[in-house]
Amino acid sequence: MTMTRTGTKPLRAKPSLRILVAALALAALACDPGKDAAQEQEKDKGKGKSQNPAAVNPADTPLPTLSFPPDSSGVPAFDANRAMQYVKEIVALGPRPIGSANHKKVEDYITAHLKGDTVEDDAFTADTVEGKFPVRNIIAKFPGTKDGIIVIASHYDTNYPLRNTSFIGANDGAATSALLLEFANQLRGKKREGYSVWLLWTDAEEAMKSWSDTDSLYGTRHLAQKWQQDGTAKQIKAFLLADMIGDADLDIDRDMNSTQWVESVVYEAATRLGYQSHFFVRSNAISDDHLPFMSIGVPCADIIDIDYGYNNVFHHTVQDTVDKLSTKSLEISGTVILETVRILDKMEPLPPK
Ligand SMILES: [Zn+2]
Repeated sequence: MTMTRTGTKPLRAKPSLRILVAALALAALACDPGKDAAQEQEKDKGKGKSQNPAAVNPADTPLPTLSFPPDSSGVPAFDANRAMQYVKEIVALGPRPIGSANHKKVEDYITAHLKGDTVEDDAFTADTVEGKFPVRNIIAKFPGTKDGIIVIASHYDTNYPLRNTSFIGANDGAATSALLLEFANQLRGKKREGYSVWLLWTDAEEAMKSWSDTDSLYGTRHLAQKWQQDGTAKQIKAFLLADMIGDADLDIDRDMNSTQWVESVVYEAATRLGYQSHFFVRSNAISDDHLPFMSIGVPCADIIDIDYGYNNVFHHTVQDTVDKLSTKSLEISGTVILETVRILDKMEPLPPK
């Protein structure tokens, strides 16, 4: 994943000062958006991500106001302790870059937890800047009574350029892969009064050398093309992407590269659960697994916290370990995503694509 800063930026300031400093940062960015991005680009060289000049000012584009259906069903069931246990088991496998033995182990780990579910693979060979690699997107399908599909996705590979370090991607890959496993537990064996839910563990999200349109998102670029050709894309009502949201200091970004009405639904879900203070203080434009689906007209929201440690210092470092996460954050992320699905199920009609 990579980003373009559009609004505020990670700050070295006391929490009480953050709003003021954020406003100043926004003003500064409005004057010189390219400079900040260029500095960031320099800083991020060699880390497998890059940034582009700011494109959209979120202050000009408030979240769309929608009319939401009432919901009196309470907090969605979600076992955050079990999700945290999954995180620990996944990172215990070690670094899991594509092409590695550990990558095969995490594939087996995921599919072993989906025994008895309807599981499909999108497996192919990716021609990358580092050569040819097997790539496998894993999809678990839970049917609903309504015509249409909601996809919830997370990548499960770990960063390839860090393959020879102890990088285990506790937040970057493991936490959200675990969230999806717990969603499967909640969906399994129940009749869904709503859209079908497909859980998608994406592969080869990470760049092999340095993030670019052609060196990143190998798995989802393949799957989006496949789903466009076979007609699946037209049936997808919303695509919810989860990334880096186990962070103990949870502050989820508003993503300007996502479909803004879907962002509104996510914020409504967070507000209903009393978790809105963890959402949308910052705005960023994130390049992530949703982009291939955005480009074929699927409504998407990237639910991501790209301030992992002050100034994002833990991201793509060996410090991305379980002690930086919290069970509470998994609970917030998990229940808000399930509440988002619940609202989408009942919104009639959904906004146009
Ligand atoms: Zn990453």
